[in-house]
Amino acid sequence: MDHWDAMEVLKDVNLRATPQRIAVLNVLKMLGQAHPTAEEIYVALKQEFPAISFATVYNTLKSFLDAGLLHELRFGDKASRYDLNTQAHHHLLCEVCGDLIDIYLPEVDVAQVLREHEFAMSGYHVEIRGVCKTCREHTLHKADTHL
Ligand code: ZN
Ligand code: MN
Repeated sequence: MDHWDAMEVLKDVNLRATPQRIAVLNVLKMLGQAHPTAEEIYVALKQEFPAISFATVYNTLKSFLDAGLLHELRFGDKASRYDLNTQAHHHLLCEVCGDLIDIYLPEVDVAQVLREHEFAMSGYHVEIRGVCKTCREHTLHKADTHL
C-alpha cells in the first residue's frame, strides 16, 4: 500500500486523531528504519511544535503501543526504540552507528525449548550484532589513509 495517512491509521485502531498523535506518527514514519528512541522523536518534533513536552511524546508512544501500532525494542538498559513495522521481523544492529536494519528470517521452532524449560513465551527477537556496510566502508577508507 503506497498511500499512508496518519489519520486513517489512528482511525483504524480507534484512537482519536489529535494533532500530537498525528505528528508523532508522521515522525515515526519519516524516521522509519532509524527505529528512533522517544528522545529522538521528541527532538525531531520540537522544531515544528516547540511547546510539545517529552511526557506528551512518551504518553503518545504508550497509547500507540497499547493500540498495537508499534513494537517496542528493548536493548538491555538502553532507551527503548520504536518500530512502526509490526510484521514479524528481526534486526541487524550496527554497533558503530546504531542502525537497526529490518530482516526477515524463517520462523524458528522454539516449542521444544519452551517445553523443556516450562517457559511461557511472550515473544522473541533475533538481533544480529556487527558492523553495517556503510561503517565498514568508512573504516576501510580510514585504514587506506594510513598505508
Ligand atoms: Zn553502521
Ligand atoms: Mn524493525
